Parts: sequence; C-alpha cells; structure tokens
Amino acid sequence: MDPIAGAGDNANREFELKPVAVTRWTARLVDASVEQSYLDSRFHDDRRRVLVLMGFIAGAGVLIVFGRFLAFLDGHGSLLSMLPPIVPVAVAALGLGVILRAKSPQAMELSLLSIGVVVVGFRFSVMTVQPVMAGNWLPLMVTSLFVIYLYLPVRLALAVVFASFYSAVSVTWWLTLYGAPLSGEQIYFGLLWIVLANGLAFAAANALQRGQRMQYAQKLIMQQLLATDALTGIANRRSFDAALDREWRRCGRAGLPLSLLMIDVDHFKAYNDRFGHQKGDECLRRMARALVDCVGHPDALVGRYGGEEFVCLLPGTDQRSAAKMARRVTAAVDRAAISHPASLDGNRVTVSVGVATADTFFGDKTDLLTLADELLYAAKNGGRNRAVAGELASKQPSVRAA
Ligand code: GH3
Ligand code: MG
Ligand code: MG
Repeated sequence: MDPIAGAGDNANREFELKPVAVTRWTARLVDASVEQSYLDSRFHDDRRRVLVLMGFIAGAGVLIVFGRFLAFLDGHGSLLSMLPPIVPVAVAALGLGVILRAKSPQAMELSLLSIGVVVVGFRFSVMTVQPVMAGNWLPLMVTSLFVIYLYLPVRLALAVVFASFYSAVSVTWWLTLYGAPLSGEQIYFGLLWIVLANGLAFAAANALQRGQRMQYAQKLIMQQLLATDALTGIANRRSFDAALDREWRRCGRAGLPLSLLMIDVDHFKAYNDRFGHQKGDECLRRMARALVDCVGHPDALVGRYGGEEFVCLLPGTDQRSAAKMARRVTAAVDRAAISHPASLDGNRVTVSVGVATADTFFGDKTDLLTLADELLYAAKNGGRNRAVAGELASKQPSVRAA
C-alpha cells in the first residue's frame, strides 16, 4: 500500500527557492518582485552616489565661476560670461533637492532622467551661443556617455535609451553648428569615438549590472538556504529560534500574548520501520504542507523543530485561539489521511500538540519552549492525537482533546 497516495511530484513546488536568474542583455532579474527588492536594497547607496555627482557638478561650476570672476577682475571677459557656469550650479542644487525627496528607485530614476534632459538642453544652448565650447565637444560627450551608462542608477534599458537619444541629438547639433569648418577626418573620428564610447560603456555597464544582480541573487539564495529546512522547505530551527527571540521581545513590548504549538508526529518510529525512511521523509513533507495550509496567517511561523517535531509560533494569539488552532492542526493532519497501520488511532498518522501561551513576559523565552514541551508530553501521556494547552503564568494545563 502506498501511504502517500495522491501526493504528486509537484507537491512541494511552492517550497522551492525563488528563481533568481539574470537576463543577458538587459541586466535584470527575471522575477519582477526580486528585481524590485534588488532596486530597493540599492536605493540608499544609489542615492548617495547621485548626490556625490550633483555635488561634484556644483563644485566644478563654482570653480569655473570663480575663474571667470578672477579673469574679469584682471580685465578679461565680462560679468555676463559668469552666467553659463552658474546654471550647472543651480541645476545641481535643484537636483540635490529633487533627489533627496525621491522615496523610491523609480521616482529617483524619473528625476534623474528629467534632470538629464534639462542638462542636455542647456549644454546645447551653451554650444550655440558659445562656439568656443566646440573644442570640448568630444571629451565632454564621451565622459557624459560613461556617466549615463555607469554612474547614474538607472536600469540598463533606460540608460541605453537615454544615451542613444543624447548621442543622436548631440551629433546632429554638432554637425549642424560646426560641420562646415570641420574636416572629413575630424568628423570621421568624432563619430567613431561616439560609437566606441557607446559600445564600450554599454558592455561595461551590462557586465557590472549583471554581476551586481548575480551577487544579490546569490545572497538571497544563501539567506533562503540558511533559513529553510532542506527536507520540508519550511522554516528551519535557525529561523524559529530567531523568530521566537524577536516575537518574545516584540509581544512583550506591545503587551500582546504569544503562543507556541509544539507538534510531534505520533508513533513515527513505527511508521519508518513499516515503510522505510524515504516514505517517512515524504510523510514529513506532507505534514509540513498540511501545517502551512492550515495556519495560513502572515505573522505566524511554521517550522521544523527537528526530527518529526514541528513548531508553530503565533504572535498576538491568546490561549483560546491557540487551542483552536491546535484543533485545526490535528483535524488537518487527520484530513490528510496518511495511512499508518501501526498507529493506534484509526490507521492514520496523527499528531500530539503542546500549546503554550505567554501573557506576561517576566521570564525567559525558553520558558515558553519548556512549557510547550511539557504540555506535548502531557498530550502523549493522555493518549496521543490530542492537544493540551496551558499558560506560562499559571502553568496549569487544561486538557483539550482533539
Ligand atoms: P511518539 O508517539 O512518542 O512521538 O513516538 P515516535 O516513534 O514518534 O517517537 P520517537 O522519538 O521514538 O521516534 C521518532 C522517529 O522519528 C525516530 C526517527 O527515525 C524518526 N525521524 C526523525 N527525523 C527523521 C527524518 O528526517 N526522516 C525520517 N524518515 N524519520 C525521521
Ligand atoms: Mg519526537
Ligand atoms: Mg513522535
């Protein structure tokens, strides 16, 4: 007889690790929610980088204004020549204000692209009124392209769009304004540099952005592996210990009750002896699935404590609700109807549950664990396939048969 009849190959698909592949040419994590969490995780660092860039532009503008002011004092140039470099200072200051207000990566991206369009427009206006800028056209152009691709925290696809727009407009402007005095060779090398700068900056940005995302994906996988039980895919002992510590302090501060269900499979050794360890493992996986389906509360943590013991941590749940949950758990395991001929209870796999609740938090978190364990053994001694509930303060168990 197959004790796991009905459990398909895909029974544990929902417990599999999240896909974290990186696309090749757009440098994006395939899973949209993982990509968003990557962007969110980088947000503060990215914003700092942009603020440094704005400060750098403002500083350069101030130095140029200062230089022109000194030249004016020496009798060269006019006061009016100080005006164009003041504009980048103003734009950078405005940019600082806008970027500091951005609260999401998308808002920052949009702000950066808007500022970028203003800066590009301004540069071309200056080139028009100050032909002397023509000499700086190529180095400025190449530098700007590398900044767009590698320094601005915009997604690669948007960097490509912005850099292409910038290159096309800039080349058209350059040829229209200065085309006539330029030699064919100058035009040829100018265009070659633009194409090369775009290609190189794209390749570098693609490698960089993909590498950063792969590192992030690896970190995610490591975190998931560290927190997940390898057999059942639910939270492991490490996650449970951390959650108990966290919730014990949080519920204590908030004056909320905290309940813990300690769930142990009855006569599981006999199950292994009868069906073998592989079927035993499948049974544990089904148990985990039944528990997760049954609890289904976003704040609750369902984990494997070890061996054939599971835990369910229920923050904000009083003893009455926790006992109700325990009855739901025993009923869900019963409904799973996993055949167990060696069981004393109706030839099915059953569980016993210790239900401990803390209303006051004077002692230590391990007191809750100890009480849940004691109550579990009370349930075992009471005949198994049942839940026994008790409160940490009173430590007076009240038997509730499932
Ligand atoms: P009780 O009703 O008193 O809980 O009896 P029990 O047989 O369930 O308890 P016992 O502690 O005697 O046996 C637990 C068994 O669980 C023994 C061990 O082989 C089995 N077990 C522990 N971890 C695993 C596992 O990862 N896979 C499998 N297949 N079996 C496991
Ligand atoms: Mg046990
Ligand atoms: Mg057991």
